[in-house]
Amino acid sequence: MEKYTGKSVLRGIAIGRIYRYEKSDYQVVKTEISDAEAEKERLFNAVETAKKQLTALYEEALANVGEDHAMIFDVHKMLLEDEDYLDAAASVVLEGYNAEYAVETAGNQFAELFASMDDEYMKARAADIKDISARVIRILAGIPEDGIQTDEPVIVVADDLTPSETVKMDKNKILAFVTVRGSANSHTAILARSMNLPALVNTKMQLTDDINGKIGVVDGFDGEFLIEPEQAILDDKILLKNQWVADLEALEQLKGKDNVTGDGRRIDVFANIGKVNDVEAALEADAGGIGLFRSEFLYLGRDSFPTEEEQFASYKAVLEKMGDKKVVIRTLDIGADKKVDYFNLEAEENPALGFRAIRICLDRPEIFITQLRAIYRASAYGRAAIMFPMVVSTAEVKRIKEIVEQVKAELGVEGYPMKEVELGIMIETPAAAVISDELAKEVDFFSIGTNDLTQYTLAVDRQNQKLESTCDTHHPAVLRLIEMTVQNAHKAGIWAGICGELAADTLLTETFVNMGVDELSVSASSVLKVRKAVRDINA
Ligand code: PEP
Ligand code: MG
Repeated sequence: MEKYTGKSVLRGIAIGRIYRYEKSDYQVVKTEISDAEAEKERLFNAVETAKKQLTALYEEALANVGEDHAMIFDVHKMLLEDEDYLDAAASVVLEGYNAEYAVETAGNQFAELFASMDDEYMKARAADIKDISARVIRILAGIPEDGIQTDEPVIVVADDLTPSETVKMDKNKILAFVTVRGSANSHTAILARSMNLPALVNTKMQLTDDINGKIGVVDGFDGEFLIEPEQAILDDKILLKNQWVADLEALEQLKGKDNVTGDGRRIDVFANIGKVNDVEAALEADAGGIGLFRSEFLYLGRDSFPTEEEQFASYKAVLEKMGDKKVVIRTLDIGADKKVDYFNLEAEENPALGFRAIRICLDRPEIFITQLRAIYRASAYGRAAIMFPMVVSTAEVKRIKEIVEQVKAELGVEGYPMKEVELGIMIETPAAAVISDELAKEVDFFSIGTNDLTQYTLAVDRQNQKLESTCDTHHPAVLRLIEMTVQNAHKAGIWAGICGELAADTLLTETFVNMGVDELSVSASSVLKVRKAVRDINA
């Protein structure tokens, strides 16, 4: 048996086969082939497989997010049926080259053609051509879309995972994550938590290929990763897993109950989501609403900006599914660890202190306006609220509100129905917490982002695994800033919640209730646990 320790991200146990995930750095290589007819057949078979995948994706999106959003897969399928595109690829094969190279050549040629057109709609198809070509090349090269090729759910072990890689993974294929690098507050860890999967980060081990297929145990209680454990140890872990499952089942009884302390103090317990499909888990956990929809995940794992229509479909789907429950949509928080190539952001010395979140939105209002238009249009379908990340000044909030007014006015003229939308800000910089008395006069609510508030207050990079021990999440400086923010919110008559990971720390639930925090927004997997902690106070 091999045993390694890591930092646990979710307290749970997974037992299953190990899958070593490696980043795909596949590069198409031009090779000469001898049998052009056979290669052409290989090409057309791959195109057929791609079309089948797109049909399945269309149907899945139709069921989950509606027709508007599903449409893109239909468009991709139509592009794959385009005779000119197929002829161009086939002719490269007939010249004697491999199918991967042929598809890449035809893809580049057609993408350039579309990009040079005057019509905005046609221009935007350039990215789609690249997308479909990449799909066919992946099929030809035998690379699965999310990098995980397995018939049974597995324990994914990787050196590190970016948020973009994690967001693409199919949860049904995964039992747990183990990464050699990474920190517990990174967005990858947050995603694992939102998928309700046991996960260890910063696991001290040497990755070798021979772990593939071996039996592993991820113990998120003890922060242990075991490879090929002896039967007696495996039996113990199975018992522990059964106990964990039984505890989860016991929490189920709290569904439908109030989040109220023994002495009658009430607090909202909401869920954090990153993707439209996460709503299912939030509803399943009986969350009172969505306290943080990390909308930037709609921008990750793709090659071009999500359009207003695509975003509208996503927000509408979430709002409709949540019915009369509140949904707080956070405008995009791209930057720092959430990197997206098509934003063309310059490399920075200190990305966490750099060009991210609202700073990008105020500098490039066209991106911001597209998102705000989509949210306001979707507001007609539920109870939307919007919050803005990384605020440091009242001037920023005033500018944000001007842009919001402009968007509302334009949509009004265009005849879109809209509902009242609460506007709030995240308090996740010490500056915002310190001037929260001033900021409170400008907005309807505060949501305290303790992940960033902790990193900026303690000057500890949340991505830096070496500093995890310095990162005291219960540090009095952070707790005082939280208390001060809540007091200033209440003085101005607005509500204040916490949506950072600390909200799920049940050692602090009583402290937060005593501070008067109005809402705690946590991953769906923690909703019932926090509800229990609230109900246990003075019970
Ligand atoms: C936070 O900083 O606490 C927060 C909720 O935002 P994110 O983790 O997405 O930066
Ligand atoms: Mg943050």
